[in-house]
Amino acid sequence: MNDVYLLTGGNIGDRLLNLQLAIEQIEKHIGTVLKKSVVYETAAWGVTNQSSFLNQVLLVSTNLPAQKLLQTLLDIEQQLGRKRIEKMGPRTVDIDILFYNNEIISSPRLTVPHPQIANRRFVLTPLNEIASGFVHPVLQKTITELLEACPDPLEVKKHISVNKPI
Ligand code: ADP
Ligand code: MG
Repeated sequence: MNDVYLLTGGNIGDRLLNLQLAIEQIEKHIGTVLKKSVVYETAAWGVTNQSSFLNQVLLVSTNLPAQKLLQTLLDIEQQLGRKRIEKMGPRTVDIDILFYNNEIISSPRLTVPHPQIANRRFVLTPLNEIASGFVHPVLQKTITELLEACPDPLEVKKHISVNKPI
């Protein structure tokens, strides 16, 4: 079995529902979700007419090899996008592979660890909640150390879900 950290995120449609649907598809096609962060919200910086993003980090145990995992995630993204949008457009859910065990993978289709982890507070904040001591296999620093050094100015807040009136 392989331990993989995934980042789910989206900013269109019913954002919370889409993250939940992504978890259901991951459980069905990829493996067991061992841990999940709470959902965080990050403003879409600079672009005022765009909804803020919701993001969540999942630790998943899977027997899929890395390339097959990527293909399965892209299929899930497409399936969830198709469900809610008529034509080709922005996806409702983006799913990125952050870490695949401690492996370093560099292929035309897949780079692991995900190259932007250290630059993005919306990745490090949820990751720090469930994997604070995990050592980045390339940078050789823990998630907490990376978060403390992260230059990203965007504020990442816990998302408070408000029950909608019927
Ligand atoms: P982004 O995630 O940057 O918004 P996309 O989701 O459209 O962009 O992904 C574009 C491509 O990135 C995918 O088709 C995939 O081949 C590639 N990719 C490379 N490394 C990774 C990774 N670690 N996780 C997910 N996709 C990756
Ligand atoms: Mg992606």
